[in-house]
Order: sequence, then C-alpha cells, then structure tokens
Amino acid sequence: MAVTFIGLLYVQIMYMENMIKMRNEQFTETVMRCLNTVAKTLERDETARYLNEDLDEELAAMAGRGSSAYAHGTATQAGRNNARNDFGSQYQLRHEELKERYLYQKELLNEVVLNILETSSDRPIAERADSVTVRTYLHDELLANGIDLPFEFAIANNNGIEYATAGYNAALQSYSLPLFPNDGSGNPHSLRVVFPTKSDYIFSSIKFMLPSFSFTFILLCIFIYTIVVVVKQKKLNEIKNEFINNMTHEFKTPISSISLAAQMLNDDAVRKSPTMMKQAINVISDETKRLRFQVEKVLQLSMFDRKNATMKLQEADANAIIDSVINTFKLKVGKFGGSITGQLDAEDPIVNIDEMHFTNVIFNLLDNAIKYRREDVPPQLSITTANKGGNRLVITVADNGIGIKREDLKRIFEKFYRVSTGNRHDVKGFGLGLAYVHKMVTLFNGSIKAESDLGKGSKFIITLPLINN
Ligand code: ADP
Repeated sequence: MAVTFIGLLYVQIMYMENMIKMRNEQFTETVMRCLNTVAKTLERDETARYLNEDLDEELAAMAGRGSSAYAHGTATQAGRNNARNDFGSQYQLRHEELKERYLYQKELLNEVVLNILETSSDRPIAERADSVTVRTYLHDELLANGIDLPFEFAIANNNGIEYATAGYNAALQSYSLPLFPNDGSGNPHSLRVVFPTKSDYIFSSIKFMLPSFSFTFILLCIFIYTIVVVVKQKKLNEIKNEFINNMTHEFKTPISSISLAAQMLNDDAVRKSPTMMKQAINVISDETKRLRFQVEKVLQLSMFDRKNATMKLQEADANAIIDSVINTFKLKVGKFGGSITGQLDAEDPIVNIDEMHFTNVIFNLLDNAIKYRREDVPPQLSITTANKGGNRLVITVADNGIGIKREDLKRIFEKFYRVSTGNRHDVKGFGLGLAYVHKMVTLFNGSIKAESDLGKGSKFIITLPLINN
C-alpha cells in the first residue's frame, strides 16, 4: 500500500508539474506572439506618421508653387492636342506620363525612407512608443489571444529602463522583444511586459487537480489510521495473551494446593491426626483466601470498563480503615520476617470515599510492597497519614523493597504495565494493581504519585480532599 501511495503521489505530482510547464510554455508563446504584433504595429505607425508628415510637406510645397504647376499643366495639354490623331504617339504619351508618375512616387518613397532612417532614432522613445498607445495595443492584442490578465510594461535599452508603468516590478519574470530593430542606432530598445498575477492564472488552470490530491490525502490519512489501529490491536492481543498466561499461573498454584489438601483429608491416617488435619484445613483456607484475592483482582479489571456503577462515595474515616488493613497485614509481613508500622497522625481523617475500593487501594499498595521486597533484608513497611494545607489528607505507603527505575516510575500507573523484573521472574502479576489504584484515587477526587530509590525502596503518596472542604 505504501509503495502504491508513493507511486500515486509521484504520478500526480509529475502530471501537475507537466501541466504547469505546458501552460507556461503556451503562455509564453502567446505573449511573445502578441508582443511581436505590437512591435510591428508600432513600426507601421511610425512609417505612417512619416508618410503623413511628408504628405503635409508636399501639400504645403504645392500650395507654394501653385502657378508654375498650372503652366506645366497647360504645356502638357498642348502636347496632347498635337498628337490627338496619332494612336502610337498617344500611347507613347500615356507611357511617358505613367513613367513620370512612377518616378515621382518612387522619389517620394525614397525620400520618406531616407527620412525615417535619418531622423527616427532622434526622437525620444517615449514619443515613438508612448505608454497609452502601447498599453492599448498590448491590451487589445492579448485579449484577442485569450489572455485577459492585468499587465505592466517598461521600455528599456542597453543602459537600463527608460520608462515603466506604475506597477512595473523588475523582479517579476518579464517577456521582452526588441522595438524598432532596424533603427540602425547601436542601442536598440526593447519592450518588457510583466504579468503580476500570472502565477494565479497558471494555478487556476490546474485547480481541477485539487480534488484528486485531497482524495489521495484522505486515503493516506485513513491508511495511517488503519495501520495505527492494527498495531494497537496487535499490542492489545499480546497483552491479553500475557494476561491469560499470568492469570492461569496465579490460579493454578492455589488450586493445586487445595486439591492436594483435599487428597490429604481423604486419607484416613491424616484424618486421625488432629495436627495434620489442622494443617490441611489451614492450607485450604489460606489458598482459598489467595484465590479470592486473585479473583478480586480480576474483578477489579472489570471496574475499568464499567463506569462508576459500583462506586458509592460516602464519608469514611481513613485512619480506621487503614488501621484494620494494617492489622490483617501484620501476619503476612510476619511470614517474611518483616514488620509494618502505622503512624496515623491525621487529626481530620474524614474523606469522601468508597470504603471497599479504598481498602483495596491500600491493600494493593501493601501487597506490592511485599511482592517487590528485597531478598537480603526483611521487609519494612510503613504507612502514615497527615493533614496538609488544612484541606487535604496525605497518605504515604513506603517500603524498603527493590525500588523502581526512573523511566518505569512514569509508567507504573498504566493499565497492564509491568516492570520487567529482571532476576525476579517468580513475581507474577497482571499489571493492573497500580492502574486500579490510580483510577480509584482519581475517582475519589484525589491524586497519587510515586517516588523511588532503585534498590532502596519506594514510596506512594496519596492526596485526598477532606470532606469539610
Ligand atoms: P503487578 O504487580 O501486577 O505487576 P502493578 O500495577 O501492581 O502490577 O505494578 C506495576 C509495576 O510496578 C510492577 O510490575 C512492579 O514492577 C512495580 N511496582 C509496584 N509497586 C512496587 C513497589 N512497592 N516496589 C517496587 N516495584 C513496584
């Protein structure tokens, strides 16, 4: 798909580039043709003007020698009368007359041409090609060729620009053509035309490509989105598989312990010994508790998807709840040769919480503290409460466990996030405990943060708003 997309984009861009190039070439060609016509027209105008001037001169001269012309006329008349009866001589006469007129016209033309050659380049260019005339010619010619664009122009020679119209911008691409190239002067003029809005004009001709580009773009976005979703799903699938593996493992151990104890109870010898009997019963009760705890954890998972349907926020004494959790935990910590201390100093411990979930929160934190203990020292857990800022209750749960790396610290509250525990492969979990804790504390309108010294211990700090605020 990626290759197809790149190919598609490439073809489209190439196509557009070609279009622009073609339009540009076409434009240049038309403009140059127009300029050529305008230059020709200007030259023709100039010639016409000289002819006119010459004619005026001739008329003035004729007016001056009026009488002599008359004399010449009568002489011819006389000659004609003499040859009236002779056709040959009449033809001769006609021929003579034509020749005379031809020579006269030729003389006149030569005079005009000479005049043009001699005097044309003396006149200032602004007079020969004045801006109003040039503009009119250019406008008409361009319009006739289908270019209805605003334009500006300048007349320049080798020394630079002689005059330019108000909006002329020399930085723009100009189309230039020599003016009066047959002047004979060493410094020929040129007409330069610019089109300030040319790029818009070219662009407007490829506007029709835009929808095709936007569709490609939309397709690309959808493609990227699809890839992202697929990758996400794949990750989720992996997490799910891992979760199921962990769960099976966590359930298997207590179940096998319980079935072992049941087998023992089936044995007559065991049933006769009260100590062994008690042992088996203890195992069953302990493992059932563990099993229930695991089930509780999986149930906590469903809390994430269900909205706070099962949440019942009410006034509760945090100190009292924490105290009871400490009591149930003392035994567990004792098993690992450690201790748990509570320093519940908060004078106002009344907060708005759901008692069951709050118990789970404290329980999860303490459970982690044991789970991630160090092997070399007995676990030391401490839990404190205090009032801060007059309106907050701060609960800390600290341990002397393995600690958490800084980069993991940022992510431990994420759902399914587990630190790759390195040498502690025996520790199994779902990566849900802290995510649940975080979610609950947030629902209690509080906040939680973690601090840790890798290899020394961790500390979780919960801040809850007091009820009297
Ligand atoms: P689980 O314990 O099921 O892996 P949690 O959400 O409870 O999931 O914890 C996430 C991760 O945070 C754990 O994998 C563990 O590495 C780390 N962690 C949590 N609590 C502690 C602690 N007290 N000491 C060290 N590491 C901890």
